Amino acid sequence: MASIGHIAAGMTGARLYRAGQHTRWSIITSMAVWSFLSLLPDADVLGFRFGVRYADPWGHRGATHSIFFSLVLGTLIGAAAPLFRLPAVRTGVCAVLVLSSHALLDTLTDGGLGCALLWPFKLKRYFAPWNPIPVAPIGRRFFSSAGLRVALAEALLFLPFWFYAFWPRPGRAAVTDRDDSDTPE
Ligand SMILES: [Zn+2]
Repeated sequence: MASIGHIAAGMTGARLYRAGQHTRWSIITSMAVWSFLSLLPDADVLGFRFGVRYADPWGHRGATHSIFFSLVLGTLIGAAAPLFRLPAVRTGVCAVLVLSSHALLDTLTDGGLGCALLWPFKLKRYFAPWNPIPVAPIGRRFFSSAGLRVALAEALLFLPFWFYAFWPRPGRAAVTDRDDSDTPE
């Protein structure tokens, strides 16, 4: 994937995470943090520089694209959340979902190797039965006409996520006003 879909998933996660709760973080900060988390499993491409091969357990779409990895890292993030005055359970659950979304979205791509969803129990790489997302060229090769085509296709495929992430919500003042007007006299 060209990362655009993962950013859309992270921004959607930020919107869901903030829904109905007061938070000290601005929406921009929340979206940046959750998008970073959504992209994090692809840090495994750094392994190429150190001789890790694509198909290795810690290769691209290997261990970091497993449900186990999402559960462990998401739980750690939830445990650390109170240090930032954030709710532990809500943060942990949202982190697990956003991290898992990365691997599940990658299984919808039409190239490369699948994702090691069941690592460390099975090293098999999995694809979804339906693969509508074009796979993106890796590294510098992404900056090409093929990479641009993939980026545009992803931007379109994830339109519903963009709509949800950017759809205007009533501000706190607006909600308070409406609540006041609903109060029977
Ligand atoms: Zn990935």
